Amino acid sequence: MIPEHVRAALAEAGDDRIVYDLTGIENQLDTLRAELPGVHVRFAMKACPVDEVLACLADRGAGFDAAGPGEIRSALRTGVAPTAVHYGNTVKSDADIAAAYRLGITTFATDCVEDVRAIAAEAPGARVFCRVPTDGAGALWGLTGKFGSEDPVAVLAEARRLGLTPAGLSLHVGSQQLTVRAWAVAFDLLAALLPRLAEQGIALDHVNLGGGLPAAGYLAPDGTPLHPPTAAVFAAIREGMRRLAGYGLDYVVEPGRYLVADHGTVRARVTRLTVRKSPWLYLSCGRFNGLYEGDKVRYRLEFPGHEGGPLMPATVAGPSCDSDDTLGGGPVPVPAGLTSGDPVWIHAAGAYATSYTTMGFNGFDPLACHAVRAERFRPIAEADWDAVAELEAAAYSSHGLSEGPAALRSRAANSTSFVLDTGERVGGYLIALPYPRFRFPDLSRPERSVFGSTNLHLHDVVVDEKLRGRGWGRRMLRRLKAIAEAQAYERISLVAVDGLAPYWASHGFAPHPGLTPPDGYGPGAVYMSRSL
Ligand SMILES: *Cc1c(COP(=O)(O)O)cnc(C)c1O
Repeated sequence: MIPEHVRAALAEAGDDRIVYDLTGIENQLDTLRAELPGVHVRFAMKACPVDEVLACLADRGAGFDAAGPGEIRSALRTGVAPTAVHYGNTVKSDADIAAAYRLGITTFATDCVEDVRAIAAEAPGARVFCRVPTDGAGALWGLTGKFGSEDPVAVLAEARRLGLTPAGLSLHVGSQQLTVRAWAVAFDLLAALLPRLAEQGIALDHVNLGGGLPAAGYLAPDGTPLHPPTAAVFAAIREGMRRLAGYGLDYVVEPGRYLVADHGTVRARVTRLTVRKSPWLYLSCGRFNGLYEGDKVRYRLEFPGHEGGPLMPATVAGPSCDSDDTLGGGPVPVPAGLTSGDPVWIHAAGAYATSYTTMGFNGFDPLACHAVRAERFRPIAEADWDAVAELEAAAYSSHGLSEGPAALRSRAANSTSFVLDTGERVGGYLIALPYPRFRFPDLSRPERSVFGSTNLHLHDVVVDEKLRGRGWGRRMLRRLKAIAEAQAYERISLVAVDGLAPYWASHGFAPHPGLTPPDGYGPGAVYMSRSL
Protein backbone atom coordinates (compact mmCIF):
# COMPACT_ATOMS: atom_id res chain seq x y z
CA MET A 1 0.00 0.00 0.00
CA ILE A 2 2.87 2.37 0.70
CA PRO A 3 4.49 3.07 -2.68
CA GLU A 4 8.12 2.18 -3.26
CA HIS A 5 9.55 5.70 -3.25
CA VAL A 6 7.91 6.36 0.13
CA ARG A 7 9.16 3.06 1.56
CA ALA A 8 12.66 4.02 0.48
CA ALA A 9 12.37 7.37 2.26
CA LEU A 10 11.02 5.70 5.42
CA ALA A 11 13.75 3.08 5.40
CA GLU A 12 16.46 5.73 5.10
CA ALA A 13 15.05 7.91 7.87
CA GLY A 14 17.25 8.01 10.94
CA ASP A 15 14.76 9.82 13.15
CA ASP A 16 11.03 10.28 13.64
CA ARG A 17 9.17 12.09 10.91
CA ILE A 18 6.04 12.27 8.83
CA VAL A 19 6.62 11.68 5.14
CA TYR A 20 4.13 13.15 2.66
CA ASP A 21 3.94 11.67 -0.81
CA LEU A 22 3.35 14.63 -3.10
CA THR A 23 2.86 12.36 -6.12
CA GLY A 24 0.15 10.46 -4.25
CA ILE A 25 -1.55 13.70 -3.21
CA GLU A 26 -1.48 14.99 -6.80
CA ASN A 27 -2.93 11.73 -8.09
CA GLN A 28 -5.65 11.89 -5.44
CA LEU A 29 -6.57 15.37 -6.64
CA ASP A 30 -6.68 14.08 -10.23
CA THR A 31 -8.95 11.22 -9.15
CA LEU A 32 -11.30 13.62 -7.38
CA ARG A 33 -11.50 15.83 -10.45
CA ALA A 34 -12.21 12.83 -12.67
CA GLU A 35 -15.02 11.74 -10.30
CA LEU A 36 -16.53 15.21 -10.04
CA PRO A 37 -15.85 16.91 -13.37
CA GLY A 38 -16.11 20.68 -13.34
CA VAL A 39 -16.26 20.93 -9.55
CA HIS A 40 -13.78 23.41 -8.05
CA VAL A 41 -11.49 21.87 -5.45
CA ARG A 42 -10.45 23.99 -2.49
CA PHE A 43 -8.26 22.17 -0.02
CA ALA A 44 -9.32 22.50 3.64
CA MET A 45 -5.94 23.60 4.92
CA LYS A 46 -6.28 22.48 8.50
CA ALA A 47 -5.97 18.87 7.35
CA CYS A 48 -2.35 19.46 6.35
CA PRO A 49 -0.91 22.95 6.69
CA VAL A 50 2.47 21.93 5.27
CA ASP A 51 3.96 24.36 2.75
CA GLU A 52 5.19 21.74 0.27
CA VAL A 53 1.78 20.06 0.24
CA LEU A 54 -0.03 23.37 -0.23
CA ALA A 55 2.38 24.31 -3.03
CA CYS A 56 1.90 21.03 -4.87
CA LEU A 57 -1.89 21.39 -4.71
CA ALA A 58 -1.69 25.00 -5.88
CA ASP A 59 0.65 24.00 -8.74
CA ARG A 60 -2.01 21.53 -9.80
CA GLY A 61 -4.73 24.18 -9.84
CA ALA A 62 -6.46 23.68 -6.47
CA GLY A 63 -7.67 26.62 -4.38
CA PHE A 64 -7.97 26.78 -0.60
CA ASP A 65 -10.60 26.80 2.13
CA ALA A 66 -9.00 28.93 4.84
CA ALA A 67 -10.25 29.37 8.39
CA GLY A 68 -8.68 32.73 9.22
CA PRO A 69 -5.95 35.22 8.34
CA GLY A 70 -3.14 32.82 9.24
CA GLU A 71 -4.32 30.16 6.80
CA ILE A 72 -5.16 32.81 4.20
CA ARG A 73 -1.55 34.05 4.31
CA SER A 74 -0.22 30.49 3.94
CA ALA A 75 -2.54 29.92 1.00
CA LEU A 76 -1.48 33.13 -0.74
CA ARG A 77 2.20 32.26 -0.26
CA THR A 78 1.68 29.44 -2.76
CA GLY A 79 1.02 32.10 -5.39
CA VAL A 80 -2.70 31.40 -5.93
CA ALA A 81 -4.97 34.37 -6.60
CA PRO A 82 -7.05 35.62 -3.64
CA THR A 83 -10.15 34.64 -5.64
CA ALA A 84 -9.04 30.99 -5.35
CA VAL A 85 -9.23 31.24 -1.55
CA HIS A 86 -12.34 31.71 0.54
CA TYR A 87 -12.78 32.43 4.23
CA GLY A 88 -14.59 29.21 5.05
CA ASN A 89 -14.99 29.65 8.80
CA THR A 90 -18.32 30.98 10.03
CA VAL A 91 -16.63 31.93 13.31
CA LYS A 92 -14.59 35.12 12.93
CA SER A 93 -13.85 38.38 14.70
CA ASP A 94 -14.24 41.86 13.21
CA ALA A 95 -10.45 42.18 13.11
CA ASP A 96 -10.02 38.87 11.27
CA ILE A 97 -12.66 39.78 8.67
CA ALA A 98 -10.89 43.11 8.08
CA ALA A 99 -7.51 41.38 7.80
CA ALA A 100 -8.88 38.89 5.25
CA TYR A 101 -10.42 41.72 3.24
CA ARG A 102 -7.09 43.54 3.17
CA LEU A 103 -5.47 40.33 1.91
CA GLY A 104 -7.86 40.41 -1.06
CA ILE A 105 -10.36 37.77 0.04
CA THR A 106 -13.79 38.41 -1.45
CA THR A 107 -15.82 35.33 -0.47
CA PHE A 108 -16.84 34.55 3.11
CA ALA A 109 -18.78 31.77 4.82
CA THR A 110 -21.45 32.87 7.24
CA ASP A 111 -24.30 31.40 9.29
CA CYS A 112 -25.89 34.20 11.33
CA VAL A 113 -26.97 37.81 10.97
CA GLU A 114 -24.40 39.02 13.51
CA ASP A 115 -21.60 37.68 11.32
CA VAL A 116 -23.26 39.06 8.15
CA ARG A 117 -23.36 42.53 9.71
CA ALA A 118 -19.69 42.29 10.62
CA ILE A 119 -18.80 41.21 7.08
CA ALA A 120 -20.83 44.10 5.65
CA ALA A 121 -18.93 46.52 7.89
CA GLU A 122 -15.41 45.09 7.53
CA ALA A 123 -15.53 43.65 3.99
CA PRO A 124 -18.09 45.82 2.18
CA GLY A 125 -19.51 44.31 -1.00
CA ALA A 126 -18.13 40.83 -0.29
CA ARG A 127 -19.70 37.62 -1.50
CA VAL A 128 -21.15 35.42 1.23
CA PHE A 129 -22.33 31.84 1.31
CA CYS A 130 -24.48 30.54 4.12
CA ARG A 131 -23.71 27.28 5.85
CA VAL A 132 -26.65 25.02 6.62
CA PRO A 133 -26.52 22.53 9.48
CA THR A 134 -26.33 18.78 9.00
CA ASP A 135 -26.75 16.10 11.64
CA GLY A 136 -23.39 14.46 10.93
CA ALA A 137 -24.95 10.99 11.07
CA GLY A 138 -22.67 8.38 9.57
CA ALA A 139 -19.48 10.41 10.01
CA LEU A 140 -16.67 9.60 12.44
CA TRP A 141 -16.57 13.29 13.37
CA GLY A 142 -20.02 14.91 13.12
CA LEU A 143 -19.23 18.66 13.24
CA THR A 144 -22.74 19.38 14.50
CA GLY A 145 -24.02 22.20 16.67
CA LYS A 146 -21.23 24.73 16.28
CA PHE A 147 -22.07 25.73 12.70
CA GLY A 148 -25.00 26.30 10.38
CA SER A 149 -28.03 28.57 10.13
CA GLU A 150 -31.55 27.29 10.72
CA ASP A 151 -32.81 30.11 8.51
CA PRO A 152 -30.39 30.62 5.62
CA VAL A 153 -33.05 32.53 3.66
CA ALA A 154 -33.15 35.23 6.34
CA VAL A 155 -29.34 35.32 6.64
CA LEU A 156 -28.81 35.72 2.89
CA ALA A 157 -31.66 38.27 2.62
CA GLU A 158 -29.97 40.32 5.34
CA ALA A 159 -26.67 40.04 3.43
CA ARG A 160 -28.33 41.43 0.32
CA ARG A 161 -29.96 44.26 2.27
CA LEU A 162 -26.51 45.25 3.57
CA GLY A 163 -24.94 45.42 0.11
CA LEU A 164 -23.26 42.01 0.16
CA THR A 165 -23.68 39.46 -2.64
CA PRO A 166 -25.64 36.40 -1.45
CA ALA A 167 -23.54 33.96 -3.46
CA GLY A 168 -24.06 30.45 -2.17
CA LEU A 169 -24.97 27.76 0.29
CA SER A 170 -22.56 25.40 2.01
CA LEU A 171 -22.69 22.35 4.20
CA HIS A 172 -20.41 19.75 5.69
CA VAL A 173 -21.70 16.19 6.01
CA GLY A 174 -19.20 15.40 8.79
CA SER A 175 -15.61 14.25 8.54
CA GLN A 176 -14.84 10.72 7.29
CA GLN A 177 -18.49 10.39 6.31
CA LEU A 178 -19.06 6.68 5.74
CA THR A 179 -22.59 6.71 4.33
CA VAL A 180 -24.06 7.59 0.95
CA ARG A 181 -27.26 8.59 2.66
CA ALA A 182 -25.71 11.70 4.22
CA TRP A 183 -25.13 13.06 0.71
CA ALA A 184 -28.67 12.26 -0.42
CA VAL A 185 -29.97 14.09 2.67
CA ALA A 186 -27.68 17.04 1.93
CA PHE A 187 -29.02 17.39 -1.61
CA ASP A 188 -32.61 17.10 -0.30
CA LEU A 189 -31.84 20.04 1.95
CA LEU A 190 -30.43 22.06 -0.95
CA ALA A 191 -33.36 21.12 -3.19
CA ALA A 192 -35.76 22.43 -0.54
CA LEU A 193 -33.85 25.69 0.05
CA LEU A 194 -33.09 26.83 -3.48
CA PRO A 195 -36.75 27.46 -4.48
CA ARG A 196 -37.36 29.35 -1.22
CA LEU A 197 -34.38 31.58 -1.98
CA ALA A 198 -35.58 32.06 -5.54
CA GLU A 199 -38.95 33.21 -4.19
CA GLN A 200 -37.09 35.98 -2.38
CA GLY A 201 -35.33 36.91 -5.61
CA ILE A 202 -32.03 35.44 -4.38
CA ALA A 203 -30.28 33.56 -7.19
CA LEU A 204 -27.11 31.93 -5.94
CA ASP A 205 -24.09 31.25 -8.12
CA HIS A 206 -22.63 28.27 -6.25
CA VAL A 207 -23.01 25.49 -3.73
CA ASN A 208 -20.09 24.52 -1.52
CA LEU A 209 -20.35 20.83 -0.68
CA GLY A 210 -17.72 21.07 2.05
CA GLY A 211 -15.47 18.21 3.11
CA GLY A 212 -16.19 14.82 4.58
CA LEU A 213 -14.99 12.63 1.72
CA PRO A 214 -13.46 9.56 3.34
CA ALA A 215 -9.90 8.30 3.36
CA ALA A 216 -9.43 4.64 2.51
CA GLY A 217 -6.51 3.57 4.68
CA TYR A 218 -7.81 3.54 8.26
CA LEU A 219 -9.06 0.57 10.21
CA ALA A 220 -12.07 0.74 12.51
CA PRO A 221 -11.12 0.66 16.21
CA ASP A 222 -11.90 -3.07 16.26
CA GLY A 223 -9.31 -3.64 13.55
CA THR A 224 -11.61 -4.30 10.62
CA PRO A 225 -11.15 -2.22 7.46
CA LEU A 226 -13.59 0.69 7.19
CA HIS A 227 -14.47 0.15 3.50
CA PRO A 228 -15.80 3.65 2.81
CA PRO A 229 -18.33 3.58 -0.08
CA THR A 230 -16.31 6.16 -1.99
CA ALA A 231 -17.49 5.29 -5.51
CA ALA A 232 -21.14 5.37 -4.41
CA VAL A 233 -20.57 8.70 -2.63
CA PHE A 234 -19.26 10.25 -5.85
CA ALA A 235 -22.21 8.80 -7.76
CA ALA A 236 -24.62 10.31 -5.21
CA ILE A 237 -22.94 13.71 -5.53
CA ARG A 238 -23.14 13.59 -9.33
CA GLU A 239 -26.78 12.55 -9.09
CA GLY A 240 -27.49 15.41 -6.66
CA MET A 241 -25.86 17.92 -8.99
CA ARG A 242 -27.96 16.60 -11.88
CA ARG A 243 -31.07 17.07 -9.78
CA LEU A 244 -30.22 20.74 -9.25
CA ALA A 245 -29.02 21.32 -12.82
CA GLY A 246 -31.83 23.81 -13.48
CA TYR A 247 -30.27 26.35 -11.11
CA GLY A 248 -27.10 26.83 -13.18
CA LEU A 249 -24.89 26.54 -10.12
CA ASP A 250 -21.13 26.14 -9.83
CA TYR A 251 -19.93 23.61 -7.27
CA VAL A 252 -17.06 23.74 -4.84
CA VAL A 253 -15.73 20.91 -2.68
CA GLU A 254 -13.44 21.41 0.30
CA PRO A 255 -11.76 18.07 0.90
CA GLY A 256 -9.23 17.89 3.67
CA ARG A 257 -8.76 14.32 4.82
CA TYR A 258 -9.54 12.75 1.42
CA LEU A 259 -6.59 14.41 -0.31
CA VAL A 260 -3.87 13.80 2.25
CA ALA A 261 -4.72 11.06 4.76
CA ASP A 262 -3.62 8.08 2.69
CA HIS A 263 -0.49 9.85 1.47
CA GLY A 264 1.23 10.58 4.75
CA THR A 265 3.17 7.98 6.72
CA VAL A 266 4.68 8.40 10.15
CA ARG A 267 8.06 6.87 10.87
CA ALA A 268 8.39 6.49 14.64
CA ARG A 269 10.14 4.08 17.02
CA VAL A 270 9.26 1.50 19.58
CA THR A 271 9.85 2.97 23.01
CA ARG A 272 9.20 -0.35 24.74
CA LEU A 273 7.03 -3.44 24.58
CA THR A 274 6.14 -4.27 28.17
CA VAL A 275 3.91 -6.64 30.06
CA ARG A 276 2.29 -5.11 33.12
CA LYS A 277 -1.21 -6.25 33.92
CA SER A 278 -1.49 -6.83 30.18
CA PRO A 279 0.94 -6.11 27.32
CA TRP A 280 1.48 -2.47 26.32
CA LEU A 281 3.39 -1.21 23.33
CA TYR A 282 4.68 2.33 23.84
CA LEU A 283 5.68 4.23 20.70
CA SER A 284 7.67 7.46 20.32
CA CYS A 285 4.65 8.99 18.54
CA GLY A 286 1.20 9.22 20.07
CA ARG A 287 -1.91 11.35 20.17
CA PHE A 288 -0.02 14.51 21.16
CA ASN A 289 2.62 14.40 18.43
CA GLY A 290 0.87 13.27 15.27
CA LEU A 291 -1.77 10.64 15.97
CA TYR A 292 -4.47 12.74 17.66
CA GLU A 293 -7.24 10.91 15.84
CA GLY A 294 -6.06 7.56 17.15
CA ASP A 295 -8.97 7.42 19.57
CA LYS A 296 -11.49 7.09 16.69
CA VAL A 297 -9.57 5.23 14.01
CA ARG A 298 -6.97 2.53 14.21
CA TYR A 299 -3.85 3.14 12.18
CA ARG A 300 -2.20 0.26 10.38
CA LEU A 301 1.20 -0.33 11.94
CA GLU A 302 4.09 -1.90 10.09
CA PHE A 303 7.26 -3.03 11.85
CA PRO A 304 10.01 -3.40 9.25
CA GLY A 305 12.28 -6.34 10.01
CA HIS A 306 9.65 -8.19 12.03
CA GLU A 307 7.57 -9.55 9.15
CA GLY A 308 6.34 -13.08 9.68
CA GLY A 309 7.48 -13.38 13.31
CA PRO A 310 5.24 -14.38 16.25
CA LEU A 311 2.65 -11.82 17.35
CA MET A 312 1.16 -10.84 20.70
CA PRO A 313 -1.78 -8.56 21.51
CA ALA A 314 -0.82 -5.23 23.08
CA THR A 315 -2.47 -1.88 23.77
CA VAL A 316 -0.65 0.80 21.79
CA ALA A 317 0.13 4.16 23.40
CA GLY A 318 2.24 7.25 22.92
CA PRO A 319 5.31 8.27 24.92
CA SER A 320 3.86 10.94 27.24
CA CYS A 321 2.85 10.84 30.91
CA ASP A 322 -0.84 11.18 30.05
CA SER A 323 -3.24 8.27 29.86
CA ASP A 324 -5.22 10.03 27.10
CA ASP A 325 -2.14 9.41 25.00
CA THR A 326 -3.38 5.91 24.19
CA LEU A 327 -4.55 4.71 20.80
CA GLY A 328 -8.11 3.43 21.16
CA GLY A 329 -9.88 0.24 20.31
CA GLY A 330 -8.10 -2.17 22.62
CA PRO A 331 -5.16 -4.49 22.06
CA VAL A 332 -3.76 -5.08 18.57
CA PRO A 333 -1.45 -7.86 17.38
CA VAL A 334 2.17 -6.68 17.35
CA PRO A 335 5.44 -8.59 16.86
CA ALA A 336 6.45 -10.24 20.12
CA GLY A 337 10.12 -9.58 19.37
CA LEU A 338 9.97 -5.78 19.35
CA THR A 339 12.77 -4.03 21.16
CA SER A 340 13.32 -0.41 22.12
CA GLY A 341 14.39 1.66 19.10
CA ASP A 342 12.87 -0.57 16.42
CA PRO A 343 11.23 1.51 13.67
CA VAL A 344 7.47 1.53 13.14
CA TRP A 345 5.68 2.83 10.06
CA ILE A 346 2.21 4.19 10.72
CA HIS A 347 0.05 4.13 7.59
CA ALA A 348 -2.56 6.65 6.42
CA ALA A 349 -1.54 9.22 9.02
CA GLY A 350 -1.39 12.19 6.65
CA ALA A 351 -4.53 14.06 7.73
CA TYR A 352 -4.76 16.23 10.84
CA ALA A 353 -1.33 15.08 11.97
CA THR A 354 0.79 18.22 11.99
CA SER A 355 -2.15 20.51 12.80
CA TYR A 356 -3.24 18.54 15.88
CA THR A 357 0.28 18.32 17.26
CA THR A 358 1.15 19.84 20.62
CA MET A 359 4.15 22.14 20.91
CA GLY A 360 6.09 19.46 22.70
CA PHE A 361 3.95 17.92 25.43
CA ASN A 362 6.35 16.42 28.00
CA GLY A 363 9.18 17.57 25.73
CA PHE A 364 8.29 15.14 22.95
CA ASP A 365 8.79 17.15 19.79
CA PRO A 366 6.28 17.47 16.98
CA LEU A 367 7.17 15.25 14.03
CA ALA A 368 9.50 16.70 11.43
CA CYS A 369 7.78 17.00 8.03
CA HIS A 370 9.32 15.61 4.87
CA ALA A 371 7.88 15.55 1.36
CA VAL A 372 8.87 13.03 -1.30
CA ARG A 373 7.80 12.27 -4.85
CA ALA A 374 7.93 9.31 -7.16
CA GLU A 375 9.50 11.56 -9.77
CA ARG A 376 13.12 12.52 -9.57
CA PHE A 377 15.75 14.31 -11.57
CA ARG A 378 18.88 12.40 -12.50
CA PRO A 379 21.72 12.63 -15.01
CA ILE A 380 20.93 11.46 -18.53
CA ALA A 381 21.87 7.78 -18.95
CA GLU A 382 22.69 5.97 -22.18
CA ALA A 383 19.35 4.16 -22.08
CA ASP A 384 17.43 7.44 -21.91
CA TRP A 385 18.38 8.72 -25.34
CA ASP A 386 15.59 7.05 -27.32
CA ALA A 387 13.02 8.57 -24.98
CA VAL A 388 14.74 11.97 -25.03
CA ALA A 389 14.88 11.95 -28.85
CA GLU A 390 11.19 11.06 -28.97
CA LEU A 391 10.27 13.92 -26.63
CA GLU A 392 12.40 16.30 -28.68
CA ALA A 393 10.78 15.25 -31.94
CA ALA A 394 7.28 15.51 -30.45
CA ALA A 395 8.00 19.01 -29.16
CA TYR A 396 9.70 20.49 -32.23
CA SER A 397 9.00 18.54 -35.43
CA SER A 398 5.75 20.34 -36.17
CA HIS A 399 7.58 23.71 -35.96
CA GLY A 400 10.43 22.42 -38.15
CA LEU A 401 12.84 23.01 -35.24
CA SER A 402 13.89 19.45 -34.41
CA GLU A 403 17.67 19.14 -34.56
CA GLY A 404 17.69 15.35 -34.23
CA PRO A 405 19.31 13.07 -31.65
CA ALA A 406 22.96 13.34 -32.67
CA ALA A 407 23.07 17.13 -32.48
CA LEU A 408 21.07 17.17 -29.26
CA ARG A 409 23.32 14.61 -27.66
CA SER A 410 26.47 16.53 -28.54
CA ARG A 411 25.23 19.41 -26.37
CA ALA A 412 24.19 17.40 -23.33
CA ALA A 413 26.97 18.38 -20.92
CA ASN A 414 26.92 15.77 -18.20
CA SER A 415 26.92 17.86 -15.07
CA THR A 416 24.37 20.42 -16.25
CA SER A 417 21.83 18.27 -18.12
CA PHE A 418 19.28 15.91 -16.61
CA VAL A 419 16.07 13.97 -17.16
CA LEU A 420 12.83 13.93 -15.23
CA ASP A 421 12.33 10.28 -14.27
CA THR A 422 8.66 9.71 -13.33
CA GLY A 423 9.48 6.35 -11.77
CA GLU A 424 8.02 4.71 -14.87
CA ARG A 425 9.53 6.58 -17.79
CA VAL A 426 11.40 9.67 -18.93
CA GLY A 427 8.89 12.50 -18.61
CA GLY A 428 11.14 15.37 -19.64
CA TYR A 429 14.69 16.57 -20.03
CA LEU A 430 16.81 19.66 -19.76
CA ILE A 431 20.02 20.15 -21.68
CA ALA A 432 22.43 22.94 -20.76
CA LEU A 433 26.10 23.44 -21.59
CA PRO A 434 28.80 26.01 -20.97
CA TYR A 435 28.79 28.36 -23.96
CA PRO A 436 30.37 31.75 -24.63
CA ARG A 437 28.04 34.67 -24.05
CA PHE A 438 26.18 35.98 -27.09
CA ARG A 439 26.82 32.81 -29.05
CA PHE A 440 24.55 29.83 -29.49
CA PRO A 441 24.60 26.36 -30.97
CA ASP A 442 24.14 25.87 -34.69
CA LEU A 443 21.09 23.63 -34.85
CA SER A 444 22.11 22.13 -38.18
CA ARG A 445 25.13 20.27 -36.80
CA PRO A 446 26.52 18.69 -33.63
CA GLU A 447 28.80 20.68 -31.31
CA ARG A 448 32.44 20.42 -32.39
CA SER A 449 34.20 21.68 -29.31
CA VAL A 450 33.65 21.96 -25.60
CA PHE A 451 33.72 25.52 -24.31
CA GLY A 452 34.81 26.73 -20.93
CA SER A 453 32.61 29.65 -19.92
CA THR A 454 31.00 31.20 -16.87
CA ASN A 455 27.86 31.40 -19.01
CA LEU A 456 25.58 28.35 -18.93
CA HIS A 457 23.45 28.05 -22.05
CA LEU A 458 20.04 26.43 -21.53
CA HIS A 459 19.82 24.77 -24.88
CA ASP A 460 16.59 22.85 -24.50
CA VAL A 461 13.95 21.92 -21.94
CA VAL A 462 10.97 19.71 -22.71
CA VAL A 463 8.21 18.27 -20.53
CA ASP A 464 6.04 15.49 -21.93
CA GLU A 465 2.73 16.84 -23.09
CA LYS A 466 0.86 14.57 -20.66
CA LEU A 467 2.73 16.07 -17.72
CA ARG A 468 2.29 19.74 -18.62
CA GLY A 469 0.56 22.12 -16.25
CA ARG A 470 1.91 20.37 -13.16
CA GLY A 471 4.77 22.70 -12.31
CA TRP A 472 7.56 20.58 -13.84
CA GLY A 473 8.93 23.36 -16.05
CA ARG A 474 9.31 25.58 -13.01
CA ARG A 475 10.96 22.81 -10.98
CA MET A 476 13.41 22.02 -13.76
CA LEU A 477 14.44 25.67 -13.97
CA ARG A 478 14.81 25.85 -10.21
CA ARG A 479 17.10 22.84 -10.41
CA LEU A 480 19.11 24.33 -13.28
CA LYS A 481 19.61 27.49 -11.26
CA ALA A 482 20.81 25.48 -8.27
CA ILE A 483 23.23 23.54 -10.48
CA ALA A 484 24.54 26.75 -12.06
CA GLU A 485 25.08 28.33 -8.66
CA ALA A 486 26.80 25.26 -7.25
CA GLN A 487 29.17 25.17 -10.25
CA ALA A 488 29.92 28.91 -10.03
CA TYR A 489 28.35 29.96 -13.31
CA GLU A 490 27.55 33.67 -13.49
CA ARG A 491 24.80 33.77 -16.11
CA ILE A 492 22.28 31.57 -17.86
CA SER A 493 21.42 32.24 -21.50
CA LEU A 494 18.90 30.75 -23.92
CA VAL A 495 17.24 31.30 -27.25
CA ALA A 496 13.50 31.78 -26.86
CA VAL A 497 11.75 30.12 -29.79
CA ASP A 498 8.15 29.78 -30.84
CA GLY A 499 6.97 33.05 -29.26
CA LEU A 500 8.04 32.01 -25.75
CA ALA A 501 10.02 35.18 -24.95
CA PRO A 502 7.32 36.45 -22.53
CA TYR A 503 7.42 33.12 -20.68
CA TRP A 504 11.18 33.38 -20.26
CA ALA A 505 10.90 37.04 -19.30
CA SER A 506 8.61 35.92 -16.46
CA HIS A 507 11.52 33.76 -15.26
CA GLY A 508 13.88 36.74 -15.18
CA PHE A 509 15.45 36.43 -18.65
CA ALA A 510 16.00 39.69 -20.56
CA PRO A 511 16.42 40.00 -24.35
CA HIS A 512 19.55 41.41 -26.00
CA PRO A 513 18.22 43.45 -28.91
CA GLY A 514 20.50 43.54 -31.90
CA LEU A 515 21.57 39.94 -31.48
CA THR A 516 19.46 37.91 -33.90
CA PRO A 517 19.62 34.11 -33.82
CA PRO A 518 19.95 32.47 -37.26
CA ASP A 519 17.04 31.12 -39.27
CA GLY A 520 17.40 27.61 -37.86
CA TYR A 521 15.75 28.83 -34.63
CA GLY A 522 12.60 29.85 -36.50
CA PRO A 523 11.09 33.29 -37.02
CA GLY A 524 11.12 35.68 -34.08
CA ALA A 525 13.68 33.76 -31.99
CA VAL A 526 15.13 35.91 -29.20
CA TYR A 527 18.48 35.52 -27.40
CA MET A 528 17.95 36.16 -23.69
CA SER A 529 19.96 35.86 -20.52
CA ARG A 530 19.85 36.44 -16.79
CA SER A 531 22.42 36.71 -14.07
CA LEU A 532 22.33 34.28 -11.18
C1 LIG B 1 -12.42 20.81 8.25
C2 LIG B 1 -13.27 21.32 7.17
C3 LIG B 1 -13.27 20.70 5.92
C4 LIG B 1 -12.51 19.43 5.64
O1 LIG B 1 -13.12 18.34 6.18
P1 LIG B 1 -12.63 16.85 5.84
O2 LIG B 1 -13.58 16.00 6.52
O3 LIG B 1 -11.24 16.74 6.32
O4 LIG B 1 -12.70 16.72 4.35
C5 LIG B 1 -14.01 21.27 4.92
N1 LIG B 1 -14.72 22.40 5.12
C6 LIG B 1 -14.77 23.02 6.31
C7 LIG B 1 -15.56 24.25 6.46
C8 LIG B 1 -14.04 22.50 7.37
O5 LIG B 1 -14.08 23.10 8.56
